[in-house]
Amino acid sequence: MTGSIRLRGVSLSYPRTTDILRDLSVDVAPGEFTFLVGRSGAGKSTLLRLLAMAVLPTRGTVDIAGFSSATIRPRELPALRRRLGIVFQDYRLLTDRSVFANVAFALEVTGAAHATIAPTVERMLERVGLADKATALPQELSGGEQQRVAVARALVNAPAIVLADEPTGNLDDKATQMVFRLLRELSDAGTTVLMATHDVPLIERAGLRFIHLEQGRVVRDGTDVLALRADMRGGSLP
Ligand code: ADP
Repeated sequence: MTGSIRLRGVSLSYPRTTDILRDLSVDVAPGEFTFLVGRSGAGKSTLLRLLAMAVLPTRGTVDIAGFSSATIRPRELPALRRRLGIVFQDYRLLTDRSVFANVAFALEVTGAAHATIAPTVERMLERVGLADKATALPQELSGGEQQRVAVARALVNAPAIVLADEPTGNLDDKATQMVFRLLRELSDAGTTVLMATHDVPLIERAGLRFIHLEQGRVVRDGTDVLALRADMRGGSLP
């Protein structure tokens, strides 16, 4: 199914490393909102890279958005990526283009009808609270504002699945709530969202499912935040 994620027995190692991800079996249903939590180095970014098929598993299978790591061909990667909205931790904005152009670019590369681009971008910038920054260059924005441009760019194509790597990592409380609410609204409307975060209070307030990753393994999968806090006090997280 277009919006579903399924991992079976997935391990990943790089040529000079032991397993960075170890025997992961995880399902995320279409439209589900799931946090990915764990300390720095636990494997969250690597798992998101694996889901975008930027790397392939060493063992096991990743099924996402109707594609399987067992059978996907390099020429099919663009079709997979069009179904994914990816928010990178380091934004990856085009520094020589305006905020508006950065978001519009995501629509242009997928061949969106020209007349629809401007109103769609304007609506998206409105939703992330950046309508008044449309003509600014990324470096003229605060880190939090750049983060919201990255979110807007990932969401503007209405992807089936959003993979977000610490999308609120540099945001203050108000901006965090805005981005989180936006991702929640999307999942309510049927988009699958996987959001990596360190922000345990955010997970607690949300009351939604989290997958807790440590040293490349899933150590907890559920909604029990008290248990998550206990796990962290137990020294598995800083
Ligand atoms: P997190 O996102 O949870 O902070 P990462 O997925 O970035 O964790 O990293 C998990 C582990 O994988 C770390 O020990 C990191 O050093 C290692 N790692 C990440 N990318 C590579 C790579 N390309 N080659 C070798 N090791 C890597």
